[in-house]
Amino acid sequence: MNNNLPIITNTLTPNVRVFFSQRGEVIPNDDYSSFNICNYTGDSEEHILYCRNRLCDYLNIPLSNLITPRQTHSLNVKIIDSTTINSSELENVDALVTNLSDVAIAVNTADCVPVLLADNNAGVIAAIHSGWKGTVGKISAKAIECMLSLGATPQAIKAFIGVSICPECFEVGDEVVEQFRIAFPHVPEIIINSQPRCHINLQQACRQTLIDCGLHPKNIILSNICSRCNPNTYFSARRMGINSGRTLSGIIISK
Ligand SMILES: [Zn+2]
Repeated sequence: MNNNLPIITNTLTPNVRVFFSQRGEVIPNDDYSSFNICNYTGDSEEHILYCRNRLCDYLNIPLSNLITPRQTHSLNVKIIDSTTINSSELENVDALVTNLSDVAIAVNTADCVPVLLADNNAGVIAAIHSGWKGTVGKISAKAIECMLSLGATPQAIKAFIGVSICPECFEVGDEVVEQFRIAFPHVPEIIINSQPRCHINLQQACRQTLIDCGLHPKNIILSNICSRCNPNTYFSARRMGINSGRTLSGIIISK
């Protein structure tokens, strides 16, 4: 916490910080209270800008160096470099990769899985929104491909899997189960068979994708925090509906 700004920050590698937001003060009947910068789930522009400004002050970066895409549950990854940092073409993008320092890349989630990656030596980072569609489609693997194109190596990548829905809270229909069976045939424990409906362990599925890409298991940190189990601390779309705030999860490298 910093001046009541509900942001948790950790050092992932020597030059890389990861951060994620909490709700902070929860005002009754205000599903955006108190920290939210997601600008496409019904919150007011004024509140979003207020929160963005406070976060950028905290990170000590200009407002233009906080990059968040317009997520659509796609598998699209965008590399942010010096030519694209000022473009507004972040529509239909669900993962960002960059090697720019002092540029925070971040994703908004409320039950979906935020995956943050860093290769400290190559100076390359990624922020990924992995909902169930992105997890089945392995958007994390696509982001890692982009990281490798910038000089990263899987063995050097460290990962933080952030606040997201736990298996007990994530009940799904048969059609979703079937897609996970096809995507992860070698890890049946991702699907928890229960009646009347199955549950999915989304965080473990994301972890498995990272391991399949060559990351060392010891380099993958799981938050093990459930968004839906903790409504006074985190936003949950399953609990609150989609017109609500979002948890922001981001990463920034300083060289
Ligand atoms: Zn839960």
